[in-house]
Amino acid sequence: MKLLSAVVNSFGCSASGERLVSAARDGDFQEAQALLECNPRLARYSTFGVRNSPLHFSAAHGHHEIVHLLLQSGVDIDLRNYRGQTALMQACQHGHWEVVLILVLFGANVHKADYLNGGTALHLAATNGHSRCIRLLLADYIPSIPNFREIMSQIRDNEEPISEFDHKALSQFINQSADGGITALHMAALNAQAESVQLLLEFGASVSEVTIGDGTVIDLIGPGSTALHYAACGGNAKCCKLLIAWGASLTTENENGWTPLMVARSWHKSWLEDILSTEPVGRPKLIPSRYLSLPLMSIVQISREYGWNSKSAPGCQDPCVVCLERKCTVAAEGCDHEFCTRCALYLCSTNWGTTISRGPPGSVSCPLCRNGIVSFVKLPEKALVKEVARKSFLLPIGQRSHETPSKATPLTSQLRSLELCHVDDTSLGVSFCCQRLPSINLCRETPNICHSLVPRCVNRNLQNHLARY
Ligand SMILES: [Zn+2]
Ligand SMILES: [Zn+2]
Repeated sequence: MKLLSAVVNSFGCSASGERLVSAARDGDFQEAQALLECNPRLARYSTFGVRNSPLHFSAAHGHHEIVHLLLQSGVDIDLRNYRGQTALMQACQHGHWEVVLILVLFGANVHKADYLNGGTALHLAATNGHSRCIRLLLADYIPSIPNFREIMSQIRDNEEPISEFDHKALSQFINQSADGGITALHMAALNAQAESVQLLLEFGASVSEVTIGDGTVIDLIGPGSTALHYAACGGNAKCCKLLIAWGASLTTENENGWTPLMVARSWHKSWLEDILSTEPVGRPKLIPSRYLSLPLMSIVQISREYGWNSKSAPGCQDPCVVCLERKCTVAAEGCDHEFCTRCALYLCSTNWGTTISRGPPGSVSCPLCRNGIVSFVKLPEKALVKEVARKSFLLPIGQRSHETPSKATPLTSQLRSLELCHVDDTSLGVSFCCQRLPSINLCRETPNICHSLVPRCVNRNLQNHLARY
């Protein structure tokens, strides 16, 4: 009898597990929530054979709200499938940046390599040109400081950088190689992903890393190849120009004795002849990538510490002016305009290169005054509970906050705080659109390129709200 009961339970669990897998794959949040409420252990279910878990399915299909739900149910964030892939790798492969954002906030291991070829999430994002995912993967490595590009250029010129930021850790991560010594830069160059090539170069990807002959590299390019050899094979002129501008050598021969030009010829990429045969005259101007997003690290750290998705505050007298729902928890350094954590996170993850900001390259344009935001600071607790009057969002530009950016906390306490502030996930269903804001008096110079994070449903309210000023 006991055996029969165990078998029935086993079948029941399996059936519920399959239902959860279907819900995770199809994005059925209500079904997933109901199943997990009945049995939270289902979060750890994996399908027989391919052994993909609900976390993998929801990540691969971009259902970030279900990913969040599963993480709250205690699933191992770095769970591997039969190919050794984590949910983070699958989200990066398919370019689901919102999933990547949640996984990074919850502390997913960005260094894990798969069993097939040792590729990491960074390799997969670079291969497929998902620059937004690349930027999010690097959230803990790029400091929110205004002179980041100057420091990186000092490092390129082999000068000792004047900074306390750990550029060696950044260099190790970005140049981490898969089997055959293939870096993310090789993959982006081979697949003609020019934006990703540019971003990786900005963050210190080495143009001199070469592949090694361990039987896994592409024979028709050959071992000992640089990213420029791979770009020559891929045939994208912009990738080649970017690599050359960052110092890639035209004369380096791989182990077959081929230069990049010879690789281009062997792959019939005749349009690269001029680019790969003449050294550029003088030092080319390096244009900043539009995905730099300097304030990202500051807001990611604040979000881990204090929660990223605070509840809507219906009675809030002075809510975040972007969503008009949640209370303000962070302020932009420089202009002091205040936002809820989630809107600030989305601002740093999406508002790249679409507006002109008054700040260094990589600063994110404040949606209210166009000040270039380089970092966010958390508001003091008393401001959070509205014990003091909050500054209007029409403060004089240039007024500075005296708050200091919060320090990173240990992951355990970060995760604890994330657990404490979980909310009704239906709020995640709000889609942030790329609608343009109506003209705001404060940004007359660039009224038509305002990039809004305002959900469609509140846009009219925001218009009315802004019209009063
Ligand atoms: Zn908001
Ligand atoms: Zn501002």
